[in-house]
Amino acid sequence: MAEPSVAVSKPSGSSTKSTARSVATETRLFIDGEFVDAMSGKTFSTINPATEEIIAEVAEADAADVDAAVAAARRAFEGEWSRMRARDRGRLLQRLAELIDEHRDEFARLESMDNGKPITETRAVDVPGAVEIFSYYAGWADKVVGETIPTNDDVFTYTLREPHGVCGQIIPWNFPLLMASWKLAPALCCGNTCVLKPAEQTPLTALRLAELVREAGFPKGVVNVLPGFGPTAGGALVRHRDVNKIAFTGSTEVGRLIQREAAGTLKSVSLELGGKSPNVVFADADIDAAVQGAVRGIYFNQGEVCRAGSRLLVEEKVHDRFVDALAGHARTLRVGDPLDESTQMGAQVSEEQFEKILAYVERGRNEGAKVVTGGARARNKGYFIQPTIFDDVTNDMTIAREEIFGPVVATLTFRDIEEAIGVGNDTSYGLAAAVWTRDIKKAHRAARALKAGTVWVNTYNAFDAAVPFGGYKDSGIGRECGRQALDLYTQTKSVWISLA
Ligand code: NAP
Ligand code: MG
Repeated sequence: MAEPSVAVSKPSGSSTKSTARSVATETRLFIDGEFVDAMSGKTFSTINPATEEIIAEVAEADAADVDAAVAAARRAFEGEWSRMRARDRGRLLQRLAELIDEHRDEFARLESMDNGKPITETRAVDVPGAVEIFSYYAGWADKVVGETIPTNDDVFTYTLREPHGVCGQIIPWNFPLLMASWKLAPALCCGNTCVLKPAEQTPLTALRLAELVREAGFPKGVVNVLPGFGPTAGGALVRHRDVNKIAFTGSTEVGRLIQREAAGTLKSVSLELGGKSPNVVFADADIDAAVQGAVRGIYFNQGEVCRAGSRLLVEEKVHDRFVDALAGHARTLRVGDPLDESTQMGAQVSEEQFEKILAYVERGRNEGAKVVTGGARARNKGYFIQPTIFDDVTNDMTIAREEIFGPVVATLTFRDIEEAIGVGNDTSYGLAAAVWTRDIKKAHRAARALKAGTVWVNTYNAFDAAVPFGGYKDSGIGRECGRQALDLYTQTKSVWISLA
């Protein structure tokens, strides 16, 4: 295992020193432009899932800290921030994008250590994705405009697009920096202030980002970052009277809970939740490309991806050939040290997640599905799981219905497009879907018929800051990225001027 080259400072300001350390990262709460200990003085450990070793003790926010952060965000919103020129807000976002880019290697290492994902992926996806989204919304800042509406001759009617105010943002551990960025960038672009709660498993890159927020010159209180636990810190944010909007990414179960809890104070809520996305391969597809796509669809980020292609639907005629080729790829994927450049799949984020995935594998076997390859832990230490393929799956089995969030794909077969769409849509989720075919009519018909927020044709997992992303059905409410995210973070005011 490579030596970590990231240093972290302990809460209370003392810093941990060890060999080969090159970067200091804050571990305290970021409130009102300062790093502070939790009022309770409590901390929790964040671990490296590849080594099972503690990386750092991190300050643990609870309701009292949420109160302080929300008050700071409110002051910032009512003060300097809302008076700032929109274009200057954009400049700050652009500056932040540049600072992340300048520190890209450090972010990549820190993320790979805290989350367990391969460094090649943090470098190629997570960090550039964060840079892109800040840069993209930097461009929008002075273009969030209202409209004039022709009504009667004796009035002038127009709309203003105004920010909600203080936004509470709760994110998961699978793309920690990227999800923090997806939340902060559009919210700040529209003139909101933010209190962000990273997942307890992966708080470090959000805290490093907070340091750069300060360095970029954002006024104090505009961004606050509170590591802590869901039911305490997260719950306090959701129930807080002075939080105007909640944006959440995570499990459908917690999403439901959040919507219920937010009802008490009638907040605007947007939710990006789980998925069980069908990846549909027709016999007329470029099979090699489809196999590559299936590999990417399920093993990218150890399968800890809300839009993972976890239900693989293969047309009967090509099933044997396809599964053989897929298994060949799965068996040769290099699972190992996330910091090693040659690693293709890293560690699952936590012991809990690791156990949960293995329990699903057991369940799949018990329900009669066949393990083609994988199905067990990889390596003796660390939360590594072998790339796993189930065949002979039927859509009523647990492994076809529930989100496993691991490197486990369930393979089903179909005979024609009607059956493929029927089975594809037979799920409570609707986050994404993919189809592989050379037939343009089939591609468009399937794209229309699949009930999902994203449909990929002859590709998988593509995304861009400019393209809306979100779920149908139990996969969520609202769209992040693109122009659509501006709707999440603004409200419309209609103004009537009498000309009579
Ligand atoms: P989770 O509980 O939904 O966690 C997501 C975020 O919500 C975390 O920041 C979490 O805080 C917070 N949270 C939890 N309970 C809360 C509450 N009562 N009020 C407010 N915030 C709360 O997800 P998880 O337990 O980490 O993972 C469980 C499953 O969720 C996974 O196996 C996977 O199926 C799914 N998941 C989906 C996504 C996605 O992108 N759609 C991402 C991650 C996980 P703490 O982590 O500090 O408790
Ligand atoms: Mg960790």
